[in-house]
Amino acid sequence: MSGMESVSPQEIDRAYEKYKKDAIAGAYNINPDVEFTKGLISGLLVNQSRYGYPSCPCRLSMGSKEEDLDIICPCDYRDGDIDKYGACYCALYISQDVLEGRQPVKSIPESRLPRADRKKKVAQTVDLNWNKLPLPVWRCTVCGYLCARDGPPEVCPICKAKKDRFERFI
Ligand code: SF4
Repeated sequence: MSGMESVSPQEIDRAYEKYKKDAIAGAYNINPDVEFTKGLISGLLVNQSRYGYPSCPCRLSMGSKEEDLDIICPCDYRDGDIDKYGACYCALYISQDVLEGRQPVKSIPESRLPRADRKKKVAQTVDLNWNKLPLPVWRCTVCGYLCARDGPPEVCPICKAKKDRFERFI
């Protein structure tokens, strides 16, 4: 790691507090193991400085925002994995049942499709965009929020993901 990419304990602490606050505001839980969670947040900060966006610390980044969009934290797979396995792939976010000890966390499989299949999925989405609705429908790829308007909102009102995480749904 080059000097430019190292993060100070103060930066990690500040980011940790922010992740915690944002999680509470969005009804999510971050992992209560503080050292573990700070390790993941440190990885996110390193990726932010290395690539210009906080790609998932548990996955290999391509170094291209377009290719990595689905794994910018929070990734497109977070909510589904929390529902299915009680935690996101990195276990940065956990379910209420896991937090309260009603569900153990086992190993979390990778929900992201291999690269070639991800590209096919994008092509299929484009093929379905034929409807003659008065307005296009946009979907937040992080939380699934849908809205019909000329363009996607700047920020998702539900999960706060930015505009570039929206896809044309219909
Ligand atoms: S939400 Fe997704 S990107 Fe963020 S830490 Fe968890 S698995 Fe990685």
